[in-house]
Amino acid sequence: MRMILIGPPGAGKGTQAHNLVKRYQIPHISTGDMFRSAVKAGTELGRQAEAYMKAGDLVPDELVIAMVIERLGQPDCEGGFMLDGFPRTRPQAEALEGALDNAGLSLDAVVLIEVADQLIEERITGRRSDPETGTIYHLKYNPPPAGVADRVVQRGDDTSEACKARLTKYHDDTAPVIPFYEGKGLLVRIHGVGSPDEVLLRITTALKALQSHSAS
Ligand code: AMP
Repeated sequence: MRMILIGPPGAGKGTQAHNLVKRYQIPHISTGDMFRSAVKAGTELGRQAEAYMKAGDLVPDELVIAMVIERLGQPDCEGGFMLDGFPRTRPQAEALEGALDNAGLSLDAVVLIEVADQLIEERITGRRSDPETGTIYHLKYNPPPAGVADRVVQRGDDTSEACKARLTKYHDDTAPVIPFYEGKGLLVRIHGVGSPDEVLLRITTALKALQSHSAS
């Protein structure tokens, strides 16, 4: 399964990606996680990406594209992959398509998780993660249990200000990727409001329908 997960910030992509990669046994390629690790490790890429990330801006296409293409060339991606947070611009989508074409490969599905703008800010500013396990919580809707609550951390770009900037970027830059995939018959639209299990069921049901449709 070669798939992409897209949606506004705070739509639940990270949570769903976590579930889907287990189910389909594919590597989870999150460009946001890759950049955060690079920043933490103090690499040249991390140094270049950090200011954009803090401001809620997109990292320039050429940096992201090179990083993803290099990652997709690694052996664990041979049996498929889940891209989370990429592509986020039309040039990124086109570069991915070119790289897959060159390798004689194609995508199986693009899952779009849809959540209304009004719900995003509360979801993002309440988000916390456990640095030990990577589990994502929400202070109100999915609070961390005792013993974990003391160590959860907030992402530097999960502030109200950066959230607004990221949402604007999503509408300006990422939304144009949607018709690109819709035109190829790869897009599945998923209503992203509900429990993580409810949303997961919607996704797996839609993927089964897409696969049986493309097989027939
Ligand atoms: P995320 O964890 O996916 O929300 O990504 C966190 C931040 O990393 C974003 O706000 C961007 O600054 C940067 N980033 C991640 N993926 C991309 C991408 N595909 N294109 C440009 N910037 C990205």
